Amino acid sequence: MHSIQDIRDHLRALGANERHEQRVLRLWAQAKPQDSGRRPLESFMPTAVRETLPALSQMLSGLATLREQHPGQDGSARLLVGLQDGQTVESVLLPRDGLCVSSQVGCAVGCVFCMTGREGLIRQVGSAEIVAQVALARTLRPIKKVVFMGMGEPSHNLDAVMDAIDLLGTVGNIGHKNLVFSTVGDARVFERLPQGRVKPALALSLHTTRADLRAQLLPRAPRFDPQDLVEAGEVYARATGYPIQYQWTLIEGVNDSAEEIDGIVRLLKGKYALMNMIPYNAVPDLPYARPSWERAAEIARSLHQRGVLTKLRQSAGQDVDGGCGQLRARDVQRVQP
Ligand code: SF4
Repeated sequence: MHSIQDIRDHLRALGANERHEQRVLRLWAQAKPQDSGRRPLESFMPTAVRETLPALSQMLSGLATLREQHPGQDGSARLLVGLQDGQTVESVLLPRDGLCVSSQVGCAVGCVFCMTGREGLIRQVGSAEIVAQVALARTLRPIKKVVFMGMGEPSHNLDAVMDAIDLLGTVGNIGHKNLVFSTVGDARVFERLPQGRVKPALALSLHTTRADLRAQLLPRAPRFDPQDLVEAGEVYARATGYPIQYQWTLIEGVNDSAEEIDGIVRLLKGKYALMNMIPYNAVPDLPYARPSWERAAEIARSLHQRGVLTKLRQSAGQDVDGGCGQLRARDVQRVQP
C-alpha cells in the first residue's frame, strides 16, 4: 500500500464510507492512535473496518520507519527513513516545527553538485510513503510546516506529491502556505498546482540566471529559460497570494559573480518573491566549494540593497553530513561495501 488511494480502496472494500476513511487518514497523518478521540470508534465504524484497524495501524506505521537520527546544532535533525522494501530516504526535522520530506528515492535531474543526483532515479516514493514521513516525524516533535525539498524532484512524481499535499492540507492539519512544493521548474507544475484544492507555496530552484549554465548545472531539468521560469512563478505567486521562494545554492566561482548578481536584480526586482541564498555544502568527491560566509553575506546584502528581498540561510543540519543524500549514500555503502 504505497498510495493514499490504496488505503482508501482497502477501507472501502471493508465497508467504510468516506467519513470513516477521513477519520482513519486524519488520525494517521496527525500521528494519533486510531482509537483516540471523543467518540469511540465502535460507535460508528463497520465491524470489518474496526477489526482491521490494529493491523492497518501497524502497516501504516511500517511505511516509514526511523533507521537513524542525527541531531544538528541548529535544532534540526537529519533522519534516515526506511521504506517497506528496504530502500531509504532522508527527512529533515527543521527548526520551528518544519519537516523536509523526500519525494523520490534518488533523482533523475542529476544536478552536478548534489549527492542524490549522482544515483539517478531508483524509484518513486508513494503518496502514502510521503505522508508516512510526516506521521513518523510527528512521533518525534510537532510538525506545522512540510517542505518538499528532500531527495527527488517533486514534479517528476507529481500525482503522488499532489495527493500527499491534498491530504496534509485537509485532514493533516498543515496550513496550505506551510506546504512548500520545491522544484527545478516544469510546465506541468504551473498547470496542475493552480487546479488543486490545496495550493501549496512554491519554491523554484534557480541557481543561475544564465540558461547555458543552468543546463550544465541541472543537466536533466526541463529547459526553462530563467526569465520564463520567473514569469511563470510570478503568475502563481499573484494567483495564490504567497511569494515565490527562489533557491540559490551559492557555489564559489560558479554562480557568485557580479554578472549573476546583476542578473538576479534584473529578473527579480519588483517581483513577489523572496531569494533564499544557501551557501553550498561541500560533498566529498565533487569539485565544488562553499564560499566564505562573509562573501555570501556581502552578496545577500547587495541584493537586498538593490531591491531583492534576500535571506541568507544555512542548509539545516549542515554540521551533520552536509547536503541531502549523504546519509543515504553512507547507508548504501555500508550495505554494499
Ligand atoms: Fe534532484 Fe534536487 Fe538533487 Fe537536483 S538538487 S539532483 S533536483 S534532489
